[in-house]
Amino acid sequence: MPADSVPSSKPRLRFAPSPTGPLHLGGARTALYNWAAARAMGGTFILRIEDTDRERSDDKWLATIFEGLRWLGIEWDEGPDRGGPAGPYVQMQRLPLYARYAERLLAQGDAYECFCTPEEVEAGRERQKAAGGRPMYDRRCRDLDAGRRAALRASGRSASIRYRVPLSGKVAIDDLCKGRIEVGCEEIDDWVMLRPDGIPLYNFACVVDDLEMGITHVVRGEEHTVNGFKQVLMFGALGAAAPQYAHIPLILGKDGRKLSKRDAITNILDYRDKGFLADAVFNYITLLGWSFSGDRDVFSRAELLERFRIDEIGKSGSKFDEDKLLWMSGDYVRRLPRADFVAAARPFLRGLVPDSAFAGAAGFLGNLLGCYQERVSVLAELKDKLAWAFGDTVTLDEEARGKFEKEPEARAWLRQYAEHLATLPLPPSFPADRAVADAQFLLPTPGGTAPDAIASAFAGPSRLEHDARAFTEGLGVKFGRFVHPVRAALTGTTKGPGLFDCLFLLGKERALARLRAAASS
Ligand code: GLU
Repeated sequence: MPADSVPSSKPRLRFAPSPTGPLHLGGARTALYNWAAARAMGGTFILRIEDTDRERSDDKWLATIFEGLRWLGIEWDEGPDRGGPAGPYVQMQRLPLYARYAERLLAQGDAYECFCTPEEVEAGRERQKAAGGRPMYDRRCRDLDAGRRAALRASGRSASIRYRVPLSGKVAIDDLCKGRIEVGCEEIDDWVMLRPDGIPLYNFACVVDDLEMGITHVVRGEEHTVNGFKQVLMFGALGAAAPQYAHIPLILGKDGRKLSKRDAITNILDYRDKGFLADAVFNYITLLGWSFSGDRDVFSRAELLERFRIDEIGKSGSKFDEDKLLWMSGDYVRRLPRADFVAAARPFLRGLVPDSAFAGAAGFLGNLLGCYQERVSVLAELKDKLAWAFGDTVTLDEEARGKFEKEPEARAWLRQYAEHLATLPLPPSFPADRAVADAQFLLPTPGGTAPDAIASAFAGPSRLEHDARAFTEGLGVKFGRFVHPVRAALTGTTKGPGLFDCLFLLGKERALARLRAAASS
């Protein structure tokens, strides 16, 4: 009896997290596959909150889960915050519905009241185990007559409701991932559907909701396979077809064992905070069980949706490999248009570059960041790497100090070079002249070309290099020796972008101050 208003002709898929923690990698993958399948089939994607485990659920996780999904770009069509024809989408708001279904199953004889205390249930299990059987509920309430039930109730006991699993026969799932799987009914416990307080347990609420919400396909972790059998039985009792299930393999850690906290973050938003690009994380997660084609790992969402099919999800567990995720993040960073890269970097530069600076220095920051677009995998690397470009002074790291001290005449070279540079049209140091900083769009973008020299008023990197070569000739010093102390003095390190890009970016005041400081150190 699904709600009349739920359209049944189109595929309907759902992600049904329990708010017992943040969105982790496994949950994100489940959400992503259901979302992708829904979108690829032109169907509907639903977010349903399964919060009936009252001890473990906490509403504080809802916002985190929503935020994690949204960060990944996984938008839902129906859900707690959006409403929809099958709402409410939070299980604790659907209790009367579960009560009605429980009544129906009781009336049909597919469920029964159980008055056992937890201790009695446990003792029964132990007895079965000791007798060499399966540790299951001993079914002592399965066939109580009405009189006995009334007496137990009168004695103050309250009833939970159990599903009456057939004692023989088989239940099968034609799983989209695993193929046909089946189990003997004798292996399935008479599971509890509803607690005495009227709160349903997972399997029961899940079936009611999948039915009421018109769910057609369910992609979920293979740890739910056993639940799948219970659910199929109950769908049958309700005279309905179960959704098509795909129980997909677990994500494994590098060592081939179940993914643990050591292998991956436990909150998908940690990737955001570490400066991974959402598109890269999304792309990477997609590959944890599915492949695009042959040797292509990087693809757009549109390309994914053209190809994604549930029955092509792999049958063997895929390993989470953080190095590959880092590589992919770097790949996405490199592909970003410069302006998008600057915008994405912005929150990661707080404390180094004031937010206000972004307004008047698109060129300067674009150039500076552009020098690093090929050099970082995650945006959180930027702040340390860029620090040299700000402030009047710079501290030489050990290696740079070594290079500097190796040249006995370095101080004299730098003094003279500073005097020389003072005569050249270097741009002013950021943020002295915002208009200039804004116009400095002159460094090549990765893989592209751009005008080299500042055509108009200022000397660009290649003119600076050309000039420095002539300068060292005049000095009688090999260019290759000269550049090391200069780089050390200007940037404080031995690594980084091209030296004359650095000089250009530092601008006149800072470059001269640093050369002079090193010369008199
Ligand atoms: N709430 C369940 C979980 O988080 C959902 C399982 C299902 O998709 O049926 O594992």
